[in-house]
This record gives sequence, structure tokens and C-alpha cells, in this order.
Amino acid sequence: MQLDGDRCPACRASRLKTSSVVASDMPAGYEIEIKECGACGFAWQWPPQRDLEASIQHAKTRYTAPQNSEYYKSDKRERVALEQVLFVESLTHRLGSLLDVGAGDGTFVKVAASRGWSAAGLDPAAPEEIIGNPSIRQTTLDNLGAEEFFDLVTLWDVIEHLDRPLDVLREAVEHVKPGGWLVVETGNFQSMDRVKAGSTWWAYAADHRWYFAPPVVEKMLTSLGLINIKCGDRVLRPGWQGNKQASAPWLGKHIKTALARPHHAAREFHGYMQEWAAKDKWPLWGGLSIFNMVGQRRL
Ligand SMILES: [Zn+2]
Repeated sequence: MQLDGDRCPACRASRLKTSSVVASDMPAGYEIEIKECGACGFAWQWPPQRDLEASIQHAKTRYTAPQNSEYYKSDKRERVALEQVLFVESLTHRLGSLLDVGAGDGTFVKVAASRGWSAAGLDPAAPEEIIGNPSIRQTTLDNLGAEEFFDLVTLWDVIEHLDRPLDVLREAVEHVKPGGWLVVETGNFQSMDRVKAGSTWWAYAADHRWYFAPPVVEKMLTSLGLINIKCGDRVLRPGWQGNKQASAPWLGKHIKTALARPHHAAREFHGYMQEWAAKDKWPLWGGLSIFNMVGQRRL
């Protein structure tokens, strides 16, 4: 799977729509271009803003300057990690070994270990201050020993940053024990959240190369030979659990905006109709602004 300006990287269709959107990880108002496939609905950044090395450097600065973003505050990330650990425990029904790929500063690994998991992580952008912690390695999957297997391999909010997401998922599956699980989480392009936010959706970012949705990730996991693939039914964020099913758009909000700004009335009506269309297109996952998908390796 490679970024492409002419064909969909997921299904190879050439009917693409281009839009300008606002990157949330850049100075205010900075725009990037997004391609969206008319056939399968997958979306990606084109032209790419960064190469992989630039992304790693960017990730390093984010962890060493945590005050720059709400997302990187450590107490918040610990609460998110706990939601994620409880979710994987509901999947496996027992504690075992896990590997967190793209572990960042190791918050998920730390929280999992505190609950009794034998937890390890790797990330080429792991901050210098945690190097020396044997559970976090500053490296990538291709440097992992072929004999290292885990009951669970997790990639939380990682695949959208990768330049070769399918190749990395393939490498990840090679380290899942037979009967173990692969867990992937990412933002949902096919969500009411994205449609409502228009060009200022939170997930649009210079560092996000891909904008996934459950059907595309399901195809990827199927192509890797995983079984029992399923999409989680809620967003793994404290107090932000959402509904898997998209709820009906609320006309009141649009009327209020249109009355306040009459010259935007046509745009408000268009937005309202788009929300209805989204609800019809993605009834089973449109309510999830972030989704997780799991698949099991055959015994
Ligand atoms: Zn496509």
C-alpha cells in the first residue's frame, strides 16, 4: 500500500475526489490535500507532507514538549491506556504477554504491566529519557527477533502515521502467537464526527498519511490471514464512548447557525443533508469517531 495521486492505494480505483483540509498538528489554518476514493471511500494525504524520518523527528518533539497538546498530557494518556487495557482483557480473558508497537513513551506498556501483563513496547521515536527501560526499545518491528511471540500485539493510533501500514501489520502478525490477537486503533474517516467537522476534523494532520475506516482495515486484516475479525463497539476514551450506530443528525443546530449567519443558510442545509447521507451509508460504524479492530491468528 503506497501513497498515490492517481489511484486508490486500497482498491486501485481512479475516481478520486480532492479536498483541502486544515492540519491540526500545524500552525493555525495550515492546509493539506486529501484524496478520497469514489469506489471504496478510503482516504489519504496527497501530496505527502513528510517522509518517515521527518515523522519520527516530529514524534520525538511531541513527547519532549508535552505541554503543546492536550493529547500528550501524561495523566490523560494513562486514563486512555487503562480503557485500552480493559478492552484487551475483555478479549483474551486472561493476562499474558503483549507487545505495543509505536509505544511512544510507554504509557500503555506501563499501565498494562501494572495490571499484571508481561508488557513490552517499541517505537523508533521513544523519548531518550525512557531508553534504558528494558520494556521499551527505540526500534522498529523488523529488528525484533524472529523467535519473539506475544499473546497480543497492539498498534494504538499508529497505522495512520506509517508509510507502509500493510507491511507493518504483516510484520506485527508474525509476532502474534497462534490463537493470539492483533489490535489496531485509528480515527474513523467514515464517521458522523468527520462529516460534521468538515475541513477542520481533528484527525486531519500533516503526520496522518491515511484516513481509515472499518471496511478497509477489515480487508487488510483478512488479507493477512487473521480470523474472528471484529470492530469494537465503542471509542476507547474516558467519557467519550460514542455509539457504534450513527445517531440521527440534529436539525436544530443547523437552523440556529443559519439564523445567526443567514448567508451560510445554504451551506448549513447542505451539511444537514450530508449528515443524513453519512448515517445511511455507515449505519454500523458511523457513530465511532475512533475505532478499533481486532483479529486472531489461526491456531
Ligand atoms: Zn478505493
